Amino acid sequence: MSAPLPPGSTIGILGGGQLGRMLTLAAARLGLKCHVYSDASGPAFDVATHHTVNAYEDVGRIEDFARSVDVVTYEFENVPLPAATAAERIRPVRPPPKALAVAQDRLEEKRFVADLGLPVARFAAVDGESDFRAATQSVGVEAILKTRRLGYDGKGQVRINAATEVAAAFDEIGRNPAVLEAFVAFDYEVSILAVRGLSGEVRFYDAPLNTHRSGILHTSTVPSPLAGSRVARAREIAKAIADALDYVGVLAVEMFYLGGEAKEPLVVNEFAPRVHNSGHWTIDACAVSQFENHIRAVAGWPLGPTERHSDAVMTNLVGQDADDWPHLAAEPGTCLHLYGKRDARPDRKMGHITRLSPKSQRPT
Ligand code: AMP
Repeated sequence: MSAPLPPGSTIGILGGGQLGRMLTLAAARLGLKCHVYSDASGPAFDVATHHTVNAYEDVGRIEDFARSVDVVTYEFENVPLPAATAAERIRPVRPPPKALAVAQDRLEEKRFVADLGLPVARFAAVDGESDFRAATQSVGVEAILKTRRLGYDGKGQVRINAATEVAAAFDEIGRNPAVLEAFVAFDYEVSILAVRGLSGEVRFYDAPLNTHRSGILHTSTVPSPLAGSRVARAREIAKAIADALDYVGVLAVEMFYLGGEAKEPLVVNEFAPRVHNSGHWTIDACAVSQFENHIRAVAGWPLGPTERHSDAVMTNLVGQDADDWPHLAAEPGTCLHLYGKRDARPDRKMGHITRLSPKSQRPT
């Protein structure tokens, strides 16, 4: 195992969004610098020590970037794989590029999780309209058609039922290669936020209950109502994925909870090989946030505590929501985070708030 990077070292981050910004702020607390590489200026640029704006496809510049840092990580899962593998020829890339390769393709991701013997919704590959009938025969007609690649926040997916006009559904997802997934009638959604260190040690944050609006995460609440035995199972599932990838850093696994009557009450939806929006509450409700623990893991440091000192409800500020900042800033018990984005487009995550309250005694 390599020695921990000493304070003063530089972490390279592929991606310049708000996750990169919060990673950079967490790194600064430990005396570590960050060099952000992105194809466009973004929220992380305001706080990073160095930044580079250049195409991810420019392997020469990616190699130069990797030479300028001590370790490379990433803050979004659609980093082109050749960029991550080019960086890996020069410096360690953590989490491993394999995690990117799997998570970038919904079909590969489902297969990977299913091959580990872990629960996923029934699914079938659909490369075009002609595969559709066979796919619904194995998956059922109550389903969701999702593009294999580049879907996020509910984009690139369409709900299917017996009355669906197949051609229109394909048009809606841009006629891209897709996966058909059985519709899961869940009680609620949770995510497991795990951090795996260089030594293989895994720690978990409390599992938040997540709600969505128009496919975008709206709130994450801890504690969730998920019973202790279910949390243990959910953690076991997340650990199995992290171990199989020889993962280093924060891994988020989104799951559906189907209720106590279901034979397999927890079903994996997808995982993100990075810090995750449903873990933003950890900045204010834990001594060491998901961002700091990701930095600790990729820098080879001991992991920090993941315990929660408060109950928390994180709410995303999307589009114009952030215009309410003067009131939110004045609200007692509310921690306001703004990402410094200038252009408040309707679906754009502009910031978030975390409302804290004393830790309840409810077991989680
Ligand atoms: P995704 O982009 O796959 O995370 O999907 C976004 C949201 O759509 C999820 O958080 C769920 O609320 C919903 N969703 C996705 N897949 C399914 C499914 N198979 N069954 C029911 N709801 C789903």
